[in-house]
Amino acid sequence: MEAKKMAILCLACKADTFVRREPVYEGFRKTGERIFCMSCGHEYASEGDVPYTTTAKPTLFTDADRSKRVEVFRNDEKGRNCRHCRHFVVNPFIQRCGRRHVEVQATDCCDDFQARSAVATETECDPLQRKLDQLLSD
Ligand SMILES: [Zn+2]
Repeated sequence: MEAKKMAILCLACKADTFVRREPVYEGFRKTGERIFCMSCGHEYASEGDVPYTTTAKPTLFTDADRSKRVEVFRNDEKGRNCRHCRHFVVNPFIQRCGRRHVEVQATDCCDDFQARSAVATETECDPLQRKLDQLLSD
């Protein structure tokens, strides 16, 4: 209910108030809504006639949300690190890029970054291991 409470500047009573909605039923089926001024009870014929005040539109993003979204963006950037890349190969001695054939750090960023698919595992980066897996599963 509370979410549907929208601020208006009533045309009839000029009050800075809210609308009240009443469901309209045809038998047991809800066919629509009637919209009234909460202050004076003036009925608005349709949604388009309701003088919603622009300032009362719900604020979708607060400052807190905004910083949260920045955080998400940062995480995306982190997601482009070599350790999340399908070409990243780890063994006990070296971390390397299977595409560029150079030593890399897990935290490196790379233009050739390709995200590993959700089902991919470490071993899927290695063609030989993949072949071996295929042979074993056959
Ligand atoms: Zn009114």
